Amino acid sequence: MKLVKKLAALGLAAVMTLSMAACGSKPTETFESTGGAEIEGTDTGVSSSLVFGTNAEFPPFEYVAGTGVIDNFDGIDMAIAKQIAEENGMTASINNMEFDSLLLALQNGQVDAVIAGMTITDERKEAVDFSEPYYTATQVMIVRDDSDIKKASDMKDKKIVVVQGYTGETCVQDLGYSYEAFKKGSETILELTNGKCDVVVIDSATAEKYVADNQGIKIVEDPDAFAAEEYGIAVKKGNTELLDKINASIKKMKEDGTIASISAQYMMQILLRKKSADQRVNK
Ligand code: GLN
Repeated sequence: MKLVKKLAALGLAAVMTLSMAACGSKPTETFESTGGAEIEGTDTGVSSSLVFGTNAEFPPFEYVAGTGVIDNFDGIDMAIAKQIAEENGMTASINNMEFDSLLLALQNGQVDAVIAGMTITDERKEAVDFSEPYYTATQVMIVRDDSDIKKASDMKDKKIVVVQGYTGETCVQDLGYSYEAFKKGSETILELTNGKCDVVVIDSATAEKYVADNQGIKIVEDPDAFAAEEYGIAVKKGNTELLDKINASIKKMKEDGTIASISAQYMMQILLRKKSADQRVNK
């Protein structure tokens, strides 16, 4: 019963969050790829490729799987990217790279768009243009079950770990605490479960996934310390033609519930996994 309630609440929250976010750009008639089509060399008159840059280390938004929605890349963002490409008569392809390289790849024309659970920030807006938001998240703390950390200020003298270049790093910097940064989310969780650090600061949905996959750790939220963050798709500065297409697709997918149902589907997998892991432990 508890699980059913949680799933219902989650679905509702997803729909509410997504419909609350503003959207409004109008679709345009034509589309030109900034670079991916050239790289792919698919100028055959058949559907061309819309190349999305991502960092497939961020479940449930993007990760490598046996079978994914785009090649072997799976996750909420991958499902959204596929739909955006298809709605515009193109095929989505993925260029997987380090998170820190994504915006540069966009500026270089190596990828057409970036979809990577990327929070829209003023700093990033100086380098690229962002779509309307498609997902609302927040930073949370992951601690071991016996931790005495109850709020962000309790991290003061603790060993804090973040992922390099994520907004979690910026949040900890803003709090003025020292920390260690790792390249991958999975590495931060290993540090925590091995007792080498006290707390990991990372995005909420990704935290849910890690907690479902690892026994003995839990999420601690502090909405007073960590503001809501909105994820957007980035394009090269000034590429309004592609941005309008992406915004039109996002608007449609928000209104018809596609994004909410994609998110609910992936989050449900996480909750079911957590439920069965808990049952195994309690036996
Ligand atoms: N939302 C965080 C950020 O934008 C983390 C994104 C990610 O790791 N893919 O920095």
